[in-house]
Amino acid sequence: MTTPGPRTVRAARGAELTARSWATEAPLRMLHNNLDPEVAERPEDLVVYGGTGKAARDWASFEAISRELTTLGGDETLLVQSGRPVGVLRTHEWAPRVLIANSNLVPDWATWPEFRRLDALGLTMYGQMTAGSWIYIGTQGILQGTYETFAAVAEKRFGGTLRGTLTVTAGLGGMGGAQPLAVTMNEGVALVVECDPERARRRVETRYLDEIADDLDDAVRRVEAAKRERRALSVAVIGNAAEVLPELLRRGVEIDIVTDQTSAHDPLAYLPKGVDLADWHDYAAKKPDEFTDRSRESMADHVEAMVGFLDRGAEVFDYGNSIRGEAKLGGFERAFDFPGFVPAYIRPLFCDGKGPFRWAALSGDPADIAATDRAILELFPDNEPLARWIRMAGERVAFQGLPARICWLGYGERHLAGLRFNEMVASGELKAPVVIGRDHLDCGSVASPYRETEGMLDGSDAIADWPLLNALVNTASGATWVSIHHGGGVGIGRSLHAGQVTVADGTELAALKLERVLTNDPAMGVLRHVDAGYERAEKVADEKGVRIPMRG
Ligand code: NAD
Repeated sequence: MTTPGPRTVRAARGAELTARSWATEAPLRMLHNNLDPEVAERPEDLVVYGGTGKAARDWASFEAISRELTTLGGDETLLVQSGRPVGVLRTHEWAPRVLIANSNLVPDWATWPEFRRLDALGLTMYGQMTAGSWIYIGTQGILQGTYETFAAVAEKRFGGTLRGTLTVTAGLGGMGGAQPLAVTMNEGVALVVECDPERARRRVETRYLDEIADDLDDAVRRVEAAKRERRALSVAVIGNAAEVLPELLRRGVEIDIVTDQTSAHDPLAYLPKGVDLADWHDYAAKKPDEFTDRSRESMADHVEAMVGFLDRGAEVFDYGNSIRGEAKLGGFERAFDFPGFVPAYIRPLFCDGKGPFRWAALSGDPADIAATDRAILELFPDNEPLARWIRMAGERVAFQGLPARICWLGYGERHLAGLRFNEMVASGELKAPVVIGRDHLDCGSVASPYRETEGMLDGSDAIADWPLLNALVNTASGATWVSIHHGGGVGIGRSLHAGQVTVADGTELAALKLERVLTNDPAMGVLRHVDAGYERAEKVADEKGVRIPMRG
């Protein structure tokens, strides 16, 4: 038998099943959608986003998962171990159809070198957050979170708008590519440094980025003019952030906000100074230790420049890629002088059980998303920021793969949306079922001391029971597929996180499952933050009747 190799993958569309039920058709389509060339960053290598975040371990595993999902029964559960299908067990109709564990290692062994050793032996894969759990929806997935973060920055420092401000950042990959649009949606000017011209071009094509400058002088001219004229604009400059940021500091360019979304969580996915783009992956593969040292040294220079801007009064934050930790390992002592974005802007939302609720239309028809957008506006008429986002997303977001939408909803809200969508499927208002899931970056599903749980009030940053409880709760509540991952966002050794996706296929059973999952999943956020002593979470728990045995 020949070993399966790369092929072009695209999810099936329409209301006809290729599997035996929507509960198995849905993960099948979403796995395929993750690898759609419109969605994945490097589909031929099964890499979806976030450096090396993969959807399946290898092509043979991908084909086997697809085959199993096509024939799986309504009382069976497929087990996936780091991207490889390892068993099908008899369960029951309320059980998830797929259970996934990706990239997990015993804590003392949880280092990049050990992970890479096992990866090279074909024994594991890096699942990031939504790559290996099949609910990545392209750059839009991160867009709203990024938009909200910049809106929070605007609120905190600039009177509610970024108009007339200049943001400097780097990285135009799957996630980082959302930054320029999130800044212009907040009416500001963005200058984004990216070392790979292909990545920058891709963002222009998908309308996330306005322009690519010829060189740094040209870029600075363009953004300074836009800032002066208080005109929203995003400009990319091709270069290495570890060189460009210190140069901008040296030139004294007036920069208001600085952050970064290069793939710093993995030193092999960050291009060191003095290394050619063309040599990058070969060099990293052949000499990982030397490459890691060089990349950390460069990150130290990069972060030193970020701290330089902080000293000049700019708003500076780490955008969840662990660049501070890596820069510190590279020898820069002041790396943690600026905060991570969660404690700086997002934690209050987590206390409300809010997080990145997302859904995808399995029909493939954009009209289904337009209909769900209208449903969201009707369901939450008093939430003006939500309405503004939904309207802007409808106008400005180009879909990648299956049409999808994201918006942040909280405890007490998510199940209302899920039930409404399920009714719309039942009534035929939507042409096919929708899947409802979320990023692993959510209020009660992550332990990540450099990001989601940085600086917790009670010091419980590294306690990792919560994401495990979250996965168990979703399994017990009727989710269609549930995943437990390690190392997403900030890299191996630094996070544990869980995800769920549930199908709205219009049936009564789906309504029962959706109500429980979409109530209990965000409830974990409220519980987690009450436990850590956040008053805001206590208020939510009191108002909404969340039962917590040992309060006070
Ligand atoms: P990606 O690998 O798709 O893109 C990274 C980009 O950085 C690439 O385009 C690469 O060419 C560029 N790059 C690397 N080194 C560079 C350098 N020295 N100078 C300039 N450009 C450089 O990754 P992604 O999916 O965009 O994710 C970026 C980072 O954000 C990751 O570390 C990821 O874990 C993290 N992340 C953050 C959030 C969040 O909510 N803030 C969510 C998910 C992921």
